[in-house]
Amino acid sequence: MASTQTKTCPLCGKPADEAAHPFCSTRCAQIDLGRWLNESYVIETPVEEETPKEPPAN
Ligand SMILES: [Zn+2]
Repeated sequence: MASTQTKTCPLCGKPADEAAHPFCSTRCAQIDLGRWLNESYVIETPVEEETPKEPPAN
């Protein structure tokens, strides 16, 4: 159960916080999330509204 104490923030190395696990604070979580999103955006093509759900009713 007590696994939060053994975890540390991957960004700054501080003890992780329960609210922001596995980071020490929401700030570090946001930073990491931002990085992850940036990389994801670079890799994937920013196309989301190009998927036709319904077939053309002709
Ligand atoms: Zn941190």
